[in-house]
Amino acid sequence: MDDFLGSIFQESDIDLNRQLLKSLNENIPQYKFSIILESSEKIISKTHKIEIDDLLEKKLWDNTINKQTYICVIEDVMLCSLQLEKMRSLLICELPATLDTVTVKTMIGSTVALCEKLFNKDKQLIDENELLQAHKKQRDGKISVLEKKYQEILIKNQKQNAEYSNQLQSEIQQQTAELKKINEALFFSKRKAEAANIAKDQFLANMSHEIRSPMNGVIGFIDILLDTDFSEEQRHYLKLMKNSSEALLKVINDILDYSKIEAGKLDIEKLDFDLKIFLDEISDIISINVFEKDLTFDNILGSDVPTLLIGDPVRLRQIVMNLCGNSVKFTSKGKIVNKVSLLSQKGSIVKLKFEVIDTGIGISKDRQYKLFRPFSQVDDSMTRTYEGTGLGLAITKQLVELMGGEIGIESEENKGSTFWFNLEFEKQKINKAFSPEQQSKSYIESDNTAVISEPRHYNILLAEDDKINQIIAVNMIKKLSLGQVEIAQNGKKAVEMYHSGNFDLILMDGQMPVMSGIDATKEIRTFEKKKNIPAIPIIALTAHAMKHDRALFISCGMDEYITKPIKSKGLKDIIHKVMGEIPYVEPENEEKSVKDKQGPINLNELKEIMTGSKSLLSKCFKTFSSTYKPLLDCIEECVRENDYACIKKKAHKLKGQLKYLAAQNAIKMAEQLESMSVSKNTNEADKVINQLNEECNNILNALETIIEQEIF
Ligand code: ADP
Repeated sequence: MDDFLGSIFQESDIDLNRQLLKSLNENIPQYKFSIILESSEKIISKTHKIEIDDLLEKKLWDNTINKQTYICVIEDVMLCSLQLEKMRSLLICELPATLDTVTVKTMIGSTVALCEKLFNKDKQLIDENELLQAHKKQRDGKISVLEKKYQEILIKNQKQNAEYSNQLQSEIQQQTAELKKINEALFFSKRKAEAANIAKDQFLANMSHEIRSPMNGVIGFIDILLDTDFSEEQRHYLKLMKNSSEALLKVINDILDYSKIEAGKLDIEKLDFDLKIFLDEISDIISINVFEKDLTFDNILGSDVPTLLIGDPVRLRQIVMNLCGNSVKFTSKGKIVNKVSLLSQKGSIVKLKFEVIDTGIGISKDRQYKLFRPFSQVDDSMTRTYEGTGLGLAITKQLVELMGGEIGIESEENKGSTFWFNLEFEKQKINKAFSPEQQSKSYIESDNTAVISEPRHYNILLAEDDKINQIIAVNMIKKLSLGQVEIAQNGKKAVEMYHSGNFDLILMDGQMPVMSGIDATKEIRTFEKKKNIPAIPIIALTAHAMKHDRALFISCGMDEYITKPIKSKGLKDIIHKVMGEIPYVEPENEEKSVKDKQGPINLNELKEIMTGSKSLLSKCFKTFSSTYKPLLDCIEECVRENDYACIKKKAHKLKGQLKYLAAQNAIKMAEQLESMSVSKNTNEADKVINQLNEECNNILNALETIIEQEIF
């Protein structure tokens, strides 16, 4: 049956009839099957007993169509027919007449059902096959469309790629050719520029040098001329000439430095130097300018920073001085700090950070970028307010870089600037024979022998509120090379600075605002006792010239006292005394020394106080001319209000200033006011104030004459 099924799946209707017949005859040979097709064609077994003529055929079609299965007996043969409707044919079966008709019907019925099933199956297969073919066709169609499209795109892309690559290649070729041309041109221009630059630098270096020598000559001769006799007018012009020459020399020096560095002509030295002394010297140089602008200056040296170094102190000084000088120039109030800290230490190499911090005008972010360029000043309009060449920072940067370091700035407008630079130094091999204290002071070393040289140099704290006294004391200390000075404006500040600084000695004014010198001394002494540390020498500065004043100062813990106006020799001697260097000779009573002198000013004494310096006298003159009047007005008001303490304080202050000007008569008048405040009797005060006012005018006139006529 499997073969049968297998074969009929493949065939058409006629073939199917044939196949069916063949299968039936083969499988059931005893029943002799035939088939009559709709087209009257007959597929009849040869062994059939019954001949199926047209008449019988018609009878069979008619009966079978109606009943589907028709059985008739002809002669002794049973003839059974059934319609194979789907095959449009009749199946005829010759059976023995003995068979019962029910069996026959069942058998035939089963055969028909089987045939129908087979037909349906076949039909379904045909349909599925057709569908499959259609799908296949559709898919093949789609694939071929896709393939076509893909091919088209591929070809298009290949074409485009080829075009692009050709275009690109030609563009590259064109650009390469152009670049080559530009490079060649640049190379020649560069060589030309380099040659021109070298020539320019050398020319500048040579020219600057050539100009410098005669300029120094000009300044030298002006100095000589100034020492000879000239009219005041001629002297004035000579001084203007000297100022202009010095300004020109500064510009030339800057240009010389700049062009020397640019031309690679500047060598960096490797010398032993002591950073502590180096910083002290910076402070000495800068402090006068700082002082003139009423600023403060601090050196802060990190405690872990090694100070005996090998480097180029001359160039380092140039760098720090440029930065400090700018800070002073661009700061009108507050302070300038020169700070050195340790960044790293590897073997004998130390990396230090230098910072120059100020509270000046600052520089806005958008202007900082051009700072280190030559001839650049942040704001051109500023050049009129602040003179300068605009070369300082360019030189500073070059020097730092030449020494292998880097430089930068942090600044905020109207708040201040911090210029910093980092540099590496080699540490000196320290001779172990000397104590660390000796090593931290300057010394000259030869053949391993140290010779302590600088008279001794002290860190001095000056507690003084009066400007003239400050100027005189600082100037005197510098002239005497006694060391460096930092100023506290009152006793409280002095105590604070004593705690945070590292001072050898304090010069303490007795009367100061906020906290008096006596109270400040007491506080310092209490602290020292509590901490069990050595007492710092404190010298009282006082306008009180009486013997019993000394006792008062000594009893509150001061070591010595010196009366104002301080004189060079007296100051030097007393400092040496308290520092244990030489015996002290007490100066003669100041009251005696001013006796029997006439005129508003004792000229000899003034000369001594001003150490012969006319510029110092001019500064004091300026300060006095602007301060005496407000002081007198204040005293007058205090008299009106019977504020005796205030009269005493202000009269004392005025007396201090007058003493520095050796204004012998006015000193007495100020003392009278002081006494009146003590006795609380101010009946005569107005009269004395008027006299004093007049006398101050005399003093100013006298000072003016002294300054103008070069009496010093
Ligand atoms: P100059 O000789 O003109 O001072 P510098 O090169 O030293 O030349 O400085 C260039 C400019 O940088 C100055 O003119 C000033 O505008 C600005 N400058 C430098 N230092 C400071 C500072 N500490 N505070 C504010 N501005 C500064």
